[in-house]
Amino acid sequence: MIRKTRLFTPGPTPLLPAAQFAMAAADIHHRTPEFRALFTKVLTQLKDFIGTKNDVIVLSSSGSGAMEASVSNLTSPGDRVLVITAGKFGERWTGIAKAFNLEVDVVSAPYGSTVSLDEVKAALKLETRVVFMQATESSTGVRHDVKGVAELLKKEKSEALLVVDAITGLGTTHFDVDAWGVDVIIGGSQKAVMIPPGLAYLAVSERAWQRMEGSYNPRYYFDLRKERKNAAKGESAYTPSVALIAAMGAALDYIAGQADGDLKAGRTKLVDNAETCAAMTRAAATAMGLKLFAPKGSEAAAATAILPPEGVDSGLIVKGLKQKFAAIVTDGQGEMKGSLFRIAHIGFFDYLDTIAIIGALEQVLIANNIISGLQFGTGLIAAQKVFAETTK
Ligand SMILES: *Cc1c(COP(=O)(O)O)cnc(C)c1O
Repeated sequence: MIRKTRLFTPGPTPLLPAAQFAMAAADIHHRTPEFRALFTKVLTQLKDFIGTKNDVIVLSSSGSGAMEASVSNLTSPGDRVLVITAGKFGERWTGIAKAFNLEVDVVSAPYGSTVSLDEVKAALKLETRVVFMQATESSTGVRHDVKGVAELLKKEKSEALLVVDAITGLGTTHFDVDAWGVDVIIGGSQKAVMIPPGLAYLAVSERAWQRMEGSYNPRYYFDLRKERKNAAKGESAYTPSVALIAAMGAALDYIAGQADGDLKAGRTKLVDNAETCAAMTRAAATAMGLKLFAPKGSEAAAATAILPPEGVDSGLIVKGLKQKFAAIVTDGQGEMKGSLFRIAHIGFFDYLDTIAIIGALEQVLIANNIISGLQFGTGLIAAQKVFAETTK
């Protein structure tokens, strides 16, 4: 049979056709009124997409560039910071913080779980200058409690800024950035906004802008103050990824179009869409006798991490889906390779995509006798019921 290649990965995610057309047509110079109009529009849209009144900065880099920029712009060597981690992306915070000579306290939880607020409270010090965390840990499919951490910092009257890598959290999680007091929230283009890798974006609070005035870690390309000044004029400090910015504008138009042009309402719908795809996938996996990696109540809607039956290498399932159906799902990252596989729901996934991957998964599980006695339709029936119930 024909096999259409389809990504079911939590970044890069499937591309929105309208955004691809916008990219192809973006033959404009970045110091022109045309570009300034486009960039200003996209920056305004991003505020609505993130759900903040704070200034938004767009960087030409992958998501990690904005993570590094948050560290370099907000800290000075020797500052004490706290990293909340339970996976590969949490570990990235620690790596960046150490590279900038910070004193790093770490609250960690085993892969596949999340930390408790009591543990965070115990690790928080008077001198803690910044708390770094993920909204969703894409390597394990676990959602962290951003709201809980934000409330804790307020309650403890901590001076620490809260910096959230929401690279797979945006578009899959309902945030109230300003009310909670999230100082920096970071997104990436290859995730919920349905366009290729290459842009990072972040919203920065007034408190964080003030912190930058007194911080002196080195920064040059990722100098957020310089970008803010330029953004106010509709420009970026250096040559931006013009094509990706055009694509982002088209994607945000599409998301707004899901709710009659209201981008904030469209964002809510996009989050609910991911939640429904995730709930269908969880129900299907469980019905087929597979276990989920994330604890109940802390499952990320960005991606579902599923454990193969004991003794089975998850690579067999990943390869089976690829060979037979050209469906790309991700294996575990790093030491988790072989022990789980991840199906994404972030961005441009719909009911049909979700049903298709569940059907394909049934084929692979049965053809390879991975779950003995498994009947066709077991996962699909469970997913169908979830869909019918959630969308009625
Ligand atoms: C994808 C991702 C990143 C960024 O990775 P890049 O490869 O630099 O874009 C960071 N954090 C999380 C949670 C992610 O999913």
